[in-house]
Amino acid sequence: MVISSRFAPSPTGRLHLGHAYSAVLGRQAADRWLLRIEDLDPGRSRPEFVGGILEDLDWLGLSHDGELLVQSQRTMLYAEALERLKADGLVYPCFCTRADIAASLTAPHGDAGSAYPGTCRGRPDDPERRATTPHSWRLNSAEAIARAGLPGWREADETAFSSDPAQIGDAILARKDAPSSYHLACVIDDAATGVTHVVRGADLRPSTPVQRLLQVLLGLPEPTYLHHPLVTHQDGRRLAKRDQAPTLAAMREAGVNGRELARSLATGVLPSGFRLLTP
Ligand code: GLU
Repeated sequence: MVISSRFAPSPTGRLHLGHAYSAVLGRQAADRWLLRIEDLDPGRSRPEFVGGILEDLDWLGLSHDGELLVQSQRTMLYAEALERLKADGLVYPCFCTRADIAASLTAPHGDAGSAYPGTCRGRPDDPERRATTPHSWRLNSAEAIARAGLPGWREADETAFSSDPAQIGDAILARKDAPSSYHLACVIDDAATGVTHVVRGADLRPSTPVQRLLQVLLGLPEPTYLHHPLVTHQDGRRLAKRDQAPTLAAMREAGVNGRELARSLATGVLPSGFRLLTP
C-alpha cells in the first residue's frame, strides 16, 4: 500500500517549530507527501505567507510530492459537495452569530467550537432573507447521525476512537460568502488527493468526529489518523503565533541548520526550551 499523507498549513503567519514537527512526521510516515495551502479565510490568509511556507520547508529539506494544492482555487468542488448535502436535507441556513461563522473557516485548534443550541434548525427556509443577510450553512447533525451513524476512526497505532455527538454539533460547513468551512474542504481534499494517513497535531483530534461523519455522508474513504503530540515551550505553554513563538525563519536567521533540525525532530529530539505534550 502506498502511504500518502499531507501537510496542510494555513498561510496566516510564518511557520514555527510545531509546524516543522508535524511536517517531519508526515514526511517520515509517507511514501507520498502532499502540500496543501488552507487559505479559505480571506480575513486571515496572506499570499506572502505561502512563499514563507515553501521557503521554510525547503530549509528543512522537505520536498513535497505532486502539485501544490491551494484551497482557494478549489471552491467549486466544495460548493458542489454542499449542494449535495443541501439536496439530501442535511444542512440548514443559520443566521446566528457572525463570530461563529467567521471562526469556521480555520481549523479549531484545541476546541471543536462551542455547542450550537440549534436556534435556526427546523426554521422554514427564507430565500429572501438568505439573499440579503450573512448566514452560514450548518450540518443538521441529528439527521446526519440518524442516517450515517456515528463513525469512529483508527489511529496509526491501532487505537480505536469513537465519536461523540457533542463533538460534532451542528458544525458550520459553509457561509454565504465563503463556499466552505475548514471541515468540508479538508475531507474533500483529503479524498480527492488520495490521502491515506492524516498526520496532524492532537489539538485537531476534536475535529475528527465531524470530518468522519462528512466522509460517510459524502461517500468518501476513511483515512487512518495520526494525531501527534504538540510541541510546547518547556513550561507547557503552546506555541501560538500570538505568543511570539519562535518562527522557523527566525531560527534560520539565528544560524540553525534546518536539515539537522528536521533529522532531530524525526527522532523526537527537540531543541532545548521545548518539549512534546500530549493533550
Ligand atoms: N490548516 C490547519 C492548520 O493550520 C491544518 C488542518 C489539518 O491538518 O487538518 O493547522
